[in-house]
Amino acid sequence: MAAAAALSRLARLGSYGIRRGRGLMFNRIQRRGIAACVDPSTGLTDEQKEFQKVAFDFAANEMAPHMAEWDQNEIFPVETMRKAAQLGFGGIYVRPEVGGSGLSRLDTSIIFEALSTGCTSTTAYISIHNMCAWMIDTFGSNELREKFCPDLCSMEKFASYCLTEPGSGSDAASLLTSAKLQGDHYVLNGSKAFISGGGDTDVYVVMCRTGGKGPKGISCVVVEKGTPGLSFGKKEKKVGWNSQPTRAVIFEDCAVPVTNRLGSEGQGFNIAMKGLNGGRINIASCSLGAAHASVLLARDHISVRKQFGETLSNSQFLQFKLAEMATRLVASRLLVRQAALALQEDRPDAVSLCSMAKLFATDECFSICNQALQMHGGYGYLKDYAVQQFVRDIRVHQILEGTNEVMRMIIARDLLTES
Ligand SMILES: Cc1cc2nc3c(=O)[nH]c(=O)nc-3n(C[C@H](O)[C@H](O)[C@H](O)COP(=O)(O)OP(=O)(O)OC[C@H]3O[C@@H](n4cnc5c(N)ncnc54)[C@H](O)[C@@H]3O)c2cc1C
Repeated sequence: MAAAAALSRLARLGSYGIRRGRGLMFNRIQRRGIAACVDPSTGLTDEQKEFQKVAFDFAANEMAPHMAEWDQNEIFPVETMRKAAQLGFGGIYVRPEVGGSGLSRLDTSIIFEALSTGCTSTTAYISIHNMCAWMIDTFGSNELREKFCPDLCSMEKFASYCLTEPGSGSDAASLLTSAKLQGDHYVLNGSKAFISGGGDTDVYVVMCRTGGKGPKGISCVVVEKGTPGLSFGKKEKKVGWNSQPTRAVIFEDCAVPVTNRLGSEGQGFNIAMKGLNGGRINIASCSLGAAHASVLLARDHISVRKQFGETLSNSQFLQFKLAEMATRLVASRLLVRQAALALQEDRPDAVSLCSMAKLFATDECFSICNQALQMHGGYGYLKDYAVQQFVRDIRVHQILEGTNEVMRMIIARDLLTES
C-alpha cells in the first residue's frame, strides 16, 4: 500500500528520460545496453523496476553531470538532494504517516545502487541521512517523529549520525561523551569524530553515556543545530567522499531536553547498532552502484581503445578480467539483496548477513573499480575520467559503518556462539 503510494508519487513527478551526449566521460553509464547477466533489474518486480528506473534516470541526469565538480570543489549538493527527496528518497524506509516512502530494505538497496552510479559520495550521504530518519521514526516518541521526520524526509533538514569519537572507533561501546541528567535536560560534554555532514546538517543523532561503562550505559539523543554548546571542528580533507563534509562535533555543556531521547535510557547502543544493520546494506549498495558503473566504463573503454593494431577487447586476458569483474559484481549484489530480505523479515541471520554483505560487497566492489581503472591505463588516473572517482569514493566503505575487520568479528562471534 505504502509502496503503491510512493510509486504513484514518482509517477506524478514524472520519470526522467536519459539525456545523451552531455559530459564526455562522466555521463556515459547506461549509454549502451547491458548484458542480462549483469543487469541490476533482473529478478525484480515491475514495481521495483519502476523505482530503479526513476533512480537511474535521476542519477544520470541530476548527479552524473556534476559529480566531478562536486568532488573537485567539495560542494554539498543540497538542492539536488532535495530534488531526490521529492522522489521519495529522503526517507525511503521511514513510515508514510511522517512523510516517508514506507518501502522495504530491498527496495532501498535497489534505489541506492542506482543513485550511486551518478555520484557515490552524495548517495552515501543520503543513505546516512535515511538511516538517521529511520532511527527517529522507529525509536522516537510520536512528538519527536512528528517534529523531525517530515522535514528529514523532504530533506528540508539534514541529519548526521554521531557514534565515533577520537578515542573510540571500532570499540564504539567505549565512547566517553557524557550526558548528565539535570532536571528535564541532559547536559552533554565530549566530542565526536569523522561525522558525515557535520557542521552543514541540522539534526544530530548522538550516542552518549548516561550510565556506567559498556554498551548498557549508552543512550541516544537528538541534538539540534543551534543548541548552545554545540560546535564543529574544521572540515576534513579527504581522499574521496568530497561532496559531503566531514567534521568533528563538539559538545560543551550542551543542554538537550530529556524528551529528545530515542528509546529508553541505556538503549542507545542497541539503537545505534540497529541503525547500522540497515546502514551496512545501504553502504554496500552504494558500492554496488560504483562497481556497476565502473564495469560499464571499463567495457566501453576497452571496446574502443586500440593497441597492437586491434581493440583491447580482443585481448583474452582483458576479456577474462571483465568476466571476473562481472561475476564478482553479481555475487555481491545477490548477497546484499539476500541480507536486505533477512533484515526486512527480521530473521535471526540478519545481523550476520548484513555484516557479510558489507564485508564482501565493499571489498569486492573496491577491487572491481580498481581493476576498471587499470583497464583504462593512464587515462584511468586522470580526473577527466569518472572511474578514478568511483575508486576514491568507495575506498572508505571498507572503513566506516564498522570496519571490515569488525564485520569479520561479528560473523565469527555468531559462528562460534552456541545456539
Ligand atoms: C569519511 C568518513 C566518514 C565517517 N562518517 C562517520 C559518521 O557519520 N558517524 C560516525 O559515527 N562515524 C563516522 N566515521 C568513523 C568510522 O566509522 C570509523 O573511522 C571506523 O569505525 C573505524 O574507527 P577508527 O577510525 O577509530 O579506527 P580504529 O578503530 O582505530 O581501527 C584501526 C584499524 O585497526 C583495526 N582493528 C581495530 N580493532 C581490531 C581488532 N580487535 N582486531 C582486528 N583489527 C582491529 C580496524 O579494523 C582498522 O583497520 C567516518 C569515517 C570516515 C573516514
